[in-house]
Formats: sequence, C-alpha cells, structure tokens
Amino acid sequence: MKMIAKEKDETEREESEELFFSAVRLAMKSAKELCGLDPKEKRITLKRLGYELGHSASRYLKATTMEELIDELSLIWSSYSLGQLELFSLKPLILDIYDCYDCLGNRYGVGVTLCPFKEGFLKAILEDKLGLKNEIVEIECCGTFQTHCKFEIKTKEFEGGNKF
Ligand SMILES: [Zn+2]
Repeated sequence: MKMIAKEKDETEREESEELFFSAVRLAMKSAKELCGLDPKEKRITLKRLGYELGHSASRYLKATTMEELIDELSLIWSSYSLGQLELFSLKPLILDIYDCYDCLGNRYGVGVTLCPFKEGFLKAILEDKLGLKNEIVEIECCGTFQTHCKFEIKTKEFEGGNKF
C-alpha cells in the first residue's frame, strides 16, 4: 500500500510539474507578445513576472550544484520545446539559448533584446537553488540580429569561486 501511495504522489508531482512548465511556456509567449517589438517600458514588468514564476519553478528542480542546475534547465528547455539552453562559459558565467521559442520569430532583429522574462526567471532560480545573489543581463538576442540569446550572470559569490 505504501508503495502505491508513493507512486501516486510521484505521478501527481509529475502532472503538477508538467502543468506548471506548460503555463510558463504560455506566459513566455504572452510576455513576448506584450513586449512587442519595443519592450522599453514593459521590461521591468516582464522581468518581474519571470522572477515570480522562477521562484515557483525552483520547487520542481532538484539540482544542488551549478553543473546539475544547468543540466536540469537544459532538460526543461528541451522537454517543453522552449529552445536549447547551453552553457557558453563558467567564468564569466554565460548561458546561450538557441531556437528560442518566444523570440526566434524576430531573428532578423528589431535592435533590442526581447527576453527580460527569462532574465527574471533564471535569476530567481539561481537565487533559490544555489543561494547566488545575481544580476542577469541578456547581452545578445534574436532581437539584436543574433541567431540565439545570450545571458551573462553576474554574481560576487561565483566570481569568488566559493561555489565550485
Ligand atoms: Zn532573447
């Protein structure tokens, strides 16, 4: 009986996770539409939305190290067809997202970065899972004539190397 209860819990957790990340996918797309081609004054709102959802996302993640976290995020990005999330470099800490689900349509460029939602989302997860106070800036984007989005993560703890 105990085994059955455990399996039921696990199934419910997986269903909850699937529903949650499907909602994140929808929020990303809606955020991009809200953002339009000129996200200036909406940037803070979108980052805040991503940040709040990032905190919620953290409870589904098991990683306890940077390497595990990047693997786990890569898996989520591919499982929910959000694109391909990859580590570009550890020092400085830079992540790339290829085939970005919500901004790839603007790959020919609008001259500004379009992914403040993801800046907030990843920032919250790094804080929650690794205790890293950080600032994330999207330095390249489909919106700035690139084939991918690139996020630079600035964090004192990481630069000090304490986490590795
Ligand atoms: Zn982007």
